[in-house]
Amino acid sequence: MIKKKLFLGTNTKMYKTISETLEYLSDLITLTSDIDWDDVELFVIPSFTSLESAGKLLRERGSRISLGAQNMCWEESGQFTGEISPIMLKEVGTGIIEIGHSERRHIFGETDQQENLKVKCALKHNFKALLCIGETLEQKNYDISDEVLSMQLKIGLHGISARQAGNLWIAYEPVWAIGVNGIPATKEYAAMKHKTIRGVLCRLFGETTGNSIPILYGGSVNNQNAADLISMPDIDGLFIGRSAWNAENFNKIIRTVYPLWKASRAELK
Ligand code: PEP
Repeated sequence: MIKKKLFLGTNTKMYKTISETLEYLSDLITLTSDIDWDDVELFVIPSFTSLESAGKLLRERGSRISLGAQNMCWEESGQFTGEISPIMLKEVGTGIIEIGHSERRHIFGETDQQENLKVKCALKHNFKALLCIGETLEQKNYDISDEVLSMQLKIGLHGISARQAGNLWIAYEPVWAIGVNGIPATKEYAAMKHKTIRGVLCRLFGETTGNSIPILYGGSVNNQNAADLISMPDIDGLFIGRSAWNAENFNKIIRTVYPLWKASRAELK
């Protein structure tokens, strides 16, 4: 299977105010201005409050960096205090909706059924839906990671057609690998889980669509492990937290992985 694009993105979580986001994005736009956008899908998912100004900046600078939202309600409007609707996110030019990040699931108690409502809603509104999945350390120790991933995909993607799945991205982010206390997955472990995910996607949507859905790895990606991870089969991109929150460092990772990805793609042709 020839990989179409390299996916590299970051979610800045509850960090960076509007001015900090703009400073960061401005640096990132400058540093990445020579990127071959036919090859690379670069995206940033900042705070809700930053989205509008970030979108304006990207348009003014003519950058092809995409913007995403960290969460979204599955309803268009109504009595949902504290939630943000797809219409509101469209209004500020958001293209991607991140769904089911481990912090949403494990701190805020979101369920697979709720993620499914969000995926359906995001696809209905023509967003790219970035569904995050991943097992906890306890589940890994019980050796039920594959079952957990399979369940998260089967419920999270329930009722989605192969045609709709064209706008679907998956991030595999093992819970034990994320954040300051996270231990990054080895490239072998990550590749094994990506293979499992690919298998489920092919069973759900058929080989052609299943193989075309990008699967990104996330969880303590850094300058040391990015090259190894991107060289593995079925790892189509990296979803990076801390190591990407400094534009120069993110750019270093981009420059490290892009030539490797390009070379591996040439070999597949
Ligand atoms: C994340 O929270 O999705 C993430 C990948 O963070 P980090 O890279 O900092 O582990």
